[in-house]
Amino acid sequence: MTSASTSHVFHRLANSVPPLAVGASGIEIVDSTGKRYLDASGGAAVSCIGHGEPRVVEAIRQQAAALDYAHNVSFTSEAAEELAAFLCRATPLALEKVQFVGSGSEAVEAALKLARQFHIERGDAGRHVVISRLQSYHGNTLGALARGGNVARSRPYAPMMVESPRIEPCFEYHHRRPDESPLAYGQRAADALEEEILRIGSDKVAAFIAETVVGATSGAVPPAPGYFQRIREICDRYGILLILDEVMCGASRTGPFLACETEGIQPDIVTLAKGLGGGYQSIAAVMCTRQVHQAFAEGSGRFVHGHTFMAHPVACAAALAVQKVIQQDGLALNVARQGETLHHLLEARLGHHPHVGDIRGRGLLQAIEMVADRSSKQPFPSARGLAAAVDSECRARGLMVYPGTGTVDGVAGDHILLAPPYNVSREALHQIVDRLGDAV
Ligand code: PMP
Repeated sequence: MTSASTSHVFHRLANSVPPLAVGASGIEIVDSTGKRYLDASGGAAVSCIGHGEPRVVEAIRQQAAALDYAHNVSFTSEAAEELAAFLCRATPLALEKVQFVGSGSEAVEAALKLARQFHIERGDAGRHVVISRLQSYHGNTLGALARGGNVARSRPYAPMMVESPRIEPCFEYHHRRPDESPLAYGQRAADALEEEILRIGSDKVAAFIAETVVGATSGAVPPAPGYFQRIREICDRYGILLILDEVMCGASRTGPFLACETEGIQPDIVTLAKGLGGGYQSIAAVMCTRQVHQAFAEGSGRFVHGHTFMAHPVACAAALAVQKVIQQDGLALNVARQGETLHHLLEARLGHHPHVGDIRGRGLLQAIEMVADRSSKQPFPSARGLAAAVDSECRARGLMVYPGTGTVDGVAGDHILLAPPYNVSREALHQIVDRLGDAV
């Protein structure tokens, strides 16, 4: 039996070791004691086609046998080329170039540097600020952490980072006034960006970064109607790039390939990760428009950025196989259908619970927000509040969920996120909500 004193792995919690996972199939994970868990969150919204899909396993085997690794500076690969073309075709938006990296944080780092260098290539080197939002999460590397609004994670490292200015997120449940229409609220929330740009000076701002549907820090918060349209107008007015972080909500998690397709806007740069490789390999992507790429093609000709494992052929082959499974099995349609089912089941079971303040989400990214008091929407005071307790009750019942807090110290957003695979059955959704209901 592995314990904190015998394990050589530097685990997140210094004094405990998590259960030893020994196998996974479909929507289930099994640990070394034989206990089975329903994986209702796909880890952190990663597993999108379930575990152990033979078509992906075979694609990985074939790619590893044919071409395991060739350095991306010297070579490209069929897997990378085919995957990039597939992703560009998967969205009706005009995104034409793709860079592959190893994780969501790396994708965000690349996006930030891409935006910064884009302006340099066009002779506008003064634009170095990237505005972000409070209650956001963009990753754990220093640059991404400095943009994110999860201060609990960034605070210990603060002097090492140049923090970004952050505006209020678009969060109807907490910020829309009772007398305000969702549309009016969306405009007001977006106008915070213009105020910040004017405060800083538009000639200093390179980009604005936001999650289209907020995931980890706030729990499945879709934008108010018209919010991103107004954001796009403001970015255009001041020559600022719009980076949408779809590391969690992209790759069909909300139905369409990119969540921003629903908003009717064209972003300049989009990051993808979790559902891209579906957990079979560590892979992420940065997609950008022809215009963004053109600045490099017509400028220095070189993006000063790179990692050793970028566009790893086996990772690209795995992601391509995952995306083909989603396409061949029509899973995006199932996301819309089962997303509604999940939402209704949550409403029916927990909609009147005194400590459930809100049930929200889009597609198969759904969350419940835990509150101490429903009418005041006050969260529980301790960090991770009630969500941590619900999480441990879920585990005891063989259910994996993804708990989180808004910012820090129990500030609004103490939630449980659910992100089951796109091929989840109705029966599995009933089991998930039953166990979660019992745990709450
Ligand atoms: N952006 C968003 C929106 C995320 O949800 C995450 C991960 N939760 C990241 C970036 C960072 O991704 P990773 O953990 O793969 O580095």
